This record gives sequence, C-alpha cells and structure tokens, in this order.
Amino acid sequence: PRVIETNITEEDIRMEGTLRPQSLDDYIGQEKAKQNLKVYIEAAKRRGDALDHVLLYGPPGLGKTTLAGIIANEMGVNMKVTSGPAIEKPGEMAAILNNLQEGDLLFVDEIHRLNRQVEEVLYPAMEDYVIDIMIGKGASARSIRLDLPHFTLVGATTRAGLLTAPLRDRFGVIHRLEFYTVDELRKIVIHSAKILDVEIDEGGAGELARRSRGTPRLANRLLKRVRDFAQVRFDGSITKDVANQALDLLDVDKMGLDHVDRSMLDTIIYKFSGGPVGLDTLAAAIGEDAGTIEEVIEPYLLKNGFINRTPRGRVVTELTYHHLGLEIPE
Ligand code: ADP
Repeated sequence: PRVIETNITEEDIRMEGTLRPQSLDDYIGQEKAKQNLKVYIEAAKRRGDALDHVLLYGPPGLGKTTLAGIIANEMGVNMKVTSGPAIEKPGEMAAILNNLQEGDLLFVDEIHRLNRQVEEVLYPAMEDYVIDIMIGKGASARSIRLDLPHFTLVGATTRAGLLTAPLRDRFGVIHRLEFYTVDELRKIVIHSAKILDVEIDEGGAGELARRSRGTPRLANRLLKRVRDFAQVRFDGSITKDVANQALDLLDVDKMGLDHVDRSMLDTIIYKFSGGPVGLDTLAAAIGEDAGTIEEVIEPYLLKNGFINRTPRGRVVTELTYHHLGLEIPE
C-alpha cells in the first residue's frame, strides 16, 4: 500500500487515539485558527452558550478531527461523531440531533457528502435550534416543530468548494487548515516519539519532518515505519542517517513525494508533453479517481510548485523537471 496514503487505516485509528493532542496549547501549528478559536471559545463560555458552528476544511490528515475534539474538551462538552456518507435519510439526521444534550458538539466529517434532503434538516437546526418533522400519513399528515438543545456543529471537509451556499452560510466560523511547516512537523514527530517511547535525535526528526508532505498523519505513520527499521537494522534509535535510509527504502523522496506523486508527474511529462492536461484525462491515465487527485495528491504538489493549474488543465513546472533530474524541454 501507498506509504503516504492519507486516508485512514485501522492502524492509524489505534495510533491516533494515543497521539492526538487534547488541548489547544498542545495542538501544534495552525496559529491563526487557534488564536481565533481561543477567542470564540472564551466568549461562548462567558455567555454560557454553545459555540458558534465551525467549518474546518483542508486536505486529509491536517488535524480537522483532532481540532474538533479539542474544541469539545476546551468547551467541556461531549462530542458526537458522524459523517456525510453515513447518514442517508433525513429521519436519521433528525434522530441524531434530537439525542444531543445541551452544549454538545456534533462532528460531521466529509460534510460535503450529505445528500440534499439530509442537509435541509440541518438548516433550521443550525439557525434556530429546531427541527421540523412530519407525522401521520396522507391527508392527516402534518409537520411539527421540535426544539433542540443549543449545540455546536463542527463540519470537516476536504472540498469546501463542494458545499452548498445555504449550508456554508450557516457556519459562523470557517477555517482552512494549512500544510505544516518542517519546524512544526519536527515538534510533532518529537512529541509522538516520546509517547511511543522511541529514541530520536534532532537530525532524525528533521528528516522525517521534511519528508512528511506537510501532514501530521504522515509524519506519525512514517515515524512508526522508521522505528521498525531502526529496531531491525540498527540499535533502535533514529538518527538522520537511519531516517534517510529507511525513507529511501520506503520510496519517499527528499521532498516527501512517493511513487504515486511521481507517477502522476511522469505521466504529465511523458504522455502529455508536460501539459496542460485535463483532470479527467489525467485521472484515467494514472488510474486514480479525479476526486483523489484533487483532494489528496494535488494540493501538496500545487502548494510546493510542482504543478500549476491553468484554464486548460494541469501543467508541470521547471521545478518538477529539476526535481526528477530531467532536462527542461525547449
Ligand atoms: P483530519 O481529520 O484532518 O484528516 P486528524 O485530525 O485525524 O486529521 O489528524 C491526523 C493525526 O495527526 C492525529 O491523530 C494527530 O495525531 C496528528 N495531528 C494532527 N494535527 C496535529 C497537530 N496540530 N499537532 C499534533 N498532532 C497533530
């Protein structure tokens, strides 16, 4: 499997439980989101009311779920977790809302995947803390309005652009999570190593940080792989040299790109003369779906200047040729 796959595996779920920071102060990076949330949380607490609804967006593995849990901790409330694709019928959403306690935080992952009818249950719930439900059938059917406790909806999405306007407008707080700097990732790696009881020096942590694609989930995952390598081949402690060897074996290059990234760049270069190539054409050529390219593979490559988006499609840049050791064509 792809080492830098950013989707969640069973192993991640087990590991992430132990590595997840619990308070805003322990949550590394995302300074702007953190500063803002601190103020909103403090204000809501003083009013004795639920926090305004929060939308978090950005690529997978950047800490949206973690931040939702921290908000619940800081507010001193319970968090209920669900996801867009898990709720199929309006009645299911109504039941979830109706079971919330005063102040609860409802986390809806992949919120862009809620279907329209389910989403419509959310509108009055978010705005006025009420839901309308139909009772009876045929001529005697009527709708009754139920009051809900004040709650906070925290929505997470990798694709804010796919959210409908009425839903987006009902969030009082909207934050985009950014890729982490090498320095921030180094801190996360050192912190995780402590919890996992792995010995690592600054050089080792720096190497892992540089090759983690700006993403804490990957940093933690690579840390575990490199630890295994360090234990089998060396004395168990992770130095820069050990990290380098292990990451080379894992086929993660100096910029954190793996074979999937490189094969996409290669395809644009060799099959499409460097681009421009449209998303769907590219997806078919590399056998990934277009959504995965847009949400998982492409954001890091765009951010770091390996590809550009033009009106006619994706193009590679001079940096890409340079990074892959190729000559820049005329
Ligand atoms: P998302 O919901 O955006 O996909 P998660 O919140 O599940 O991402 O984060 C993945 C893992 O990365 C978490 O379990 C946590 O261990 C780590 N992580 C994420 N953000 C941070 C952070 N700011 N500081 C420390 N660790 C983090």
